[in-house]
Amino acid sequence: MTDSVAIRLRGLTRRFGDVVAVDGVDLDVMDGEFLTLLGPSGSGKTTVLRMIAGFERPDAGLIELGGADVTRVPPYGRDVNTVFQDYALFPHMTVQENVEYGLRVKKVAKAERRERAQAALESVRLDGYGDRAPSQLSGGQRQRVALARALVNRPKVLLLDEPLGALDLKLREEMQVELKEIQRGVGITFVFVTHDQDEALTMSDRIAVFNAGRIEQLGSPTEVYEHPATPFVAGFVGTSNLLEQAAAQAVLGKPGTWSVRPEKIRVIGTDEPVREGEHAVRGTVREVIYVGMSTRFVVDLEVGGSLMAVQQNAEGSTDLGHMRGQPVLLVWNTRHEYKVAD
Ligand code: ATP
Repeated sequence: MTDSVAIRLRGLTRRFGDVVAVDGVDLDVMDGEFLTLLGPSGSGKTTVLRMIAGFERPDAGLIELGGADVTRVPPYGRDVNTVFQDYALFPHMTVQENVEYGLRVKKVAKAERRERAQAALESVRLDGYGDRAPSQLSGGQRQRVALARALVNRPKVLLLDEPLGALDLKLREEMQVELKEIQRGVGITFVFVTHDQDEALTMSDRIAVFNAGRIEQLGSPTEVYEHPATPFVAGFVGTSNLLEQAAAQAVLGKPGTWSVRPEKIRVIGTDEPVREGEHAVRGTVREVIYVGMSTRFVVDLEVGGSLMAVQQNAEGSTDLGHMRGQPVLLVWNTRHEYKVAD
C-alpha cells in the first residue's frame, strides 16, 4: 500500500425515486489497498461500486481514479475491472481461453495473450489448469478463473461484488485467505463488497461500514471491531453488547451508551475478587451456549439489560450448562469499554 490515492469519492449521491441509495459518500481508497464496503442489504454498497465502475451515474458528487476526474467517463474509459458473484465463465472455452478472452477482444497479439493469461493463472495458483473446461473445476477454482480473467487486464483497481457469495462456508473461508494473499501478491487496489462481517475482518486493510447510504465508520478491522463508533457498528460488526444510559451510569459511573466485546468479559463467582482497573456488574446467567471452541453466556444484569460473555473452552470441564440460573459477576478491564453514543 502506498500513500497515493487510487479512488477518491466526494459527496457521492444516487437516488432511485424516493430512495436515497447513496447519500453523500466521501472516501479515499489508497493505492494497493484492500478496502471493504461492509453493510446490510440495501445499504448502498453495490451502488457505490457500480458508480466507481461507471455502470451507474451519480446524481451528485465526484469520482476520481488516480487523480483524474472520471465522473462522466463511460465504463470502458476507466482503468477498473469488476468481478461479480455470478461469474459466468464461457462453458465451451477452456480455462486458458476464458482468461485470454478480454485480451482477444482488445486485439492483443497471440503470444502476449498466452503469456499474460498464464501469468494471471499462476497468480491465482491455477497454473497447469489452462486446458481444462470450466465444468472440470470446483466452485473455488472457477471463482479463481473469474479473478484471473479480471487480473489479466492488469487494471489499476479491481471491484469485487460479493465474489464469494455462491461458495459454501468452508470454501469461502479458504478463499478469503487466498484472495487476500493474491491481492498482496499482485499489488492491485481491491474494493470488495460484502455483508459478512467475518469476511470483512479477515481480508481488509480497512473497512467502510455502510448504513442507509452513508459510511458510518471507516477504519482498520481492529479499529472497527474494538472501537465501534456508533451503536449500529457495534451491532453489525460483532455482537451488540451495550450498556445503555442508566445501566452505564450505575456500572461505569458515566453517562452514554457503551460497548464491551463479549470476549473481553470474564465470568466469575459473586464472591470472587475484582482486580484493579476492572469494572464489574452482577447478573444472572440466562443462557449457556456451547459452540465448540468457546462457550457463550447471556447474562441478565441487575441494573437492567443483558450482556454476552464468551469464554474459550481451553481446558477443564467445558460443560457449563449447570451455570444457567446462577448469579455471577461479569468483569472486564476498563480499557475495553468504548462509548458508542451520548
Ligand atoms: P445488497 O447487499 O443487498 O446488494 P447493497 O448494500 O449493495 O445491498 P444497493 O444494491 O446499493 O445496496 O441498494 C441500495 C438501495 O437502492 C436499496 O434500497 C435498493 O433497493 C435501491 N436500488 C438499487 N438499485 C436500484 C435500481 N436500479 N432501481 C431502484 N432502486 C434501486
